Amino acid sequence: MSVNDTLFERAQRAIPGGVNSPVRAFGSVGGTPKFLVSARGPFVTDAEGHEYVDLVGSWGPAVLGHAHPAVVSAVQEAAARGLSFGASTPAETELAEHVVGMIGPVEQLRLVSTGTEATMTAIRIARGFTGRDLIVKFDGHYHGHSDGLLAAAGSGLATLALPASGGVPEAVASQTIVLPYNDRDAVEQVFASHGDRIAGVIVEAAAANMGVVLPAEGFHAWLAETAHGHGALLISDEVLTGFRVTRRGVWGLDELADTAAPDLFTFGKVIGGGMPLAAVGGRADVMAMLAPLGPVYQAGTLSGNPVAVAAGLTTLRLADDAVYARMNAVADAVSGALTDALSTAGVEHAVSRVGTLFSVAFAPEAPADFAAAKAQEAFRFAPFFRSMLEQGVYLPPSAFEAWFVSAAHDDGAVTQILDALPAAARAAAGA
Ligand code: PMP
Repeated sequence: MSVNDTLFERAQRAIPGGVNSPVRAFGSVGGTPKFLVSARGPFVTDAEGHEYVDLVGSWGPAVLGHAHPAVVSAVQEAAARGLSFGASTPAETELAEHVVGMIGPVEQLRLVSTGTEATMTAIRIARGFTGRDLIVKFDGHYHGHSDGLLAAAGSGLATLALPASGGVPEAVASQTIVLPYNDRDAVEQVFASHGDRIAGVIVEAAAANMGVVLPAEGFHAWLAETAHGHGALLISDEVLTGFRVTRRGVWGLDELADTAAPDLFTFGKVIGGGMPLAAVGGRADVMAMLAPLGPVYQAGTLSGNPVAVAAGLTTLRLADDAVYARMNAVADAVSGALTDALSTAGVEHAVSRVGTLFSVAFAPEAPADFAAAKAQEAFRFAPFFRSMLEQGVYLPPSAFEAWFVSAAHDDGAVTQILDALPAAARAAAGA
């Protein structure tokens, strides 16, 4: 038995399914998940000493690549000063100021530890602010694993084909209305019938947990205006896209007039530079709902943890325009070669791209909603994935996830990916 197989067997005895997050399991692609022991730049190394070019990037944070020396030093220095104080620190204000300076509609920011907490808090703020209960979300959008947001969610629920999570009381689930993405009629109907009971609409700034699914032209601005017209808030979930798809996230692609701006934003992943840190931010009058100013309670022993803030702040400061230019160049090269390889192999596909982020659907055209994303020939992904892995390229182990490039993907790493694509494309074709 290989080292990885042995580790997985042990893990399965001590940990449910052998994984601490379901997306890490290789359920839909087959085989044993790799046990990683180190990562540097564009590479990860498994317990058997195999090195892979990494296109998971810790599911988003690693825009600078892994273990960037300046980030590691900042973390070491912060750790040496104390791991956690449970009190205010100067650096957390610097991080909040940095984000407030980057994202226009974010006037104030509260730090939390995970994206799940960020969206959960955003929803609580929206309910507190409006005095209403109902939340609208979209089919295939993933906003973390809080009770009310798991219905018809993407990410691991899409991979496992779970319509909703067990353990969520019906009374909680019934407060979430799930609509097809990009469907203006559905949104209009729900506001026409429940408009005065809807606290907010939450939407991924660009959907990326059912593969990348782009918003139809103007859909999010229209969504904001529709919500505002009914006294509801718009929450733009930039946990995955923030500081990744561009320096200012999706907001940086599409700065909107004030009436069409989201009221709340959520951030995670890049903002923590690979450490547990996330945030909810937005209009000052809305953020003032939070305790100790207002009645909406949110707290955390490790919120604004100084070591995590050091990683996040250093990452955001280093992530300048040159970093995003390199990520875009890598995304151009890889997505272009991906299309060429699949076309040559005769595999019907569509690449969807937002800024530096992209994914491929085995479908004649890019999906516009979850139904279309699920209708693709997802069975082609497993042989494609396994071929890439055998050739030393580590992709997200699901057809429903985006590919994460970094500025550390140098020409050598990109060449390794490009060289692997033709054989993987033939495997996808079933050849
Ligand atoms: N929102 C979005 C858009 C996400 O992609 C994720 C995680 N992939 C979350 C929220 C939840 O973040 P976390 O895993 O840090 O709880």
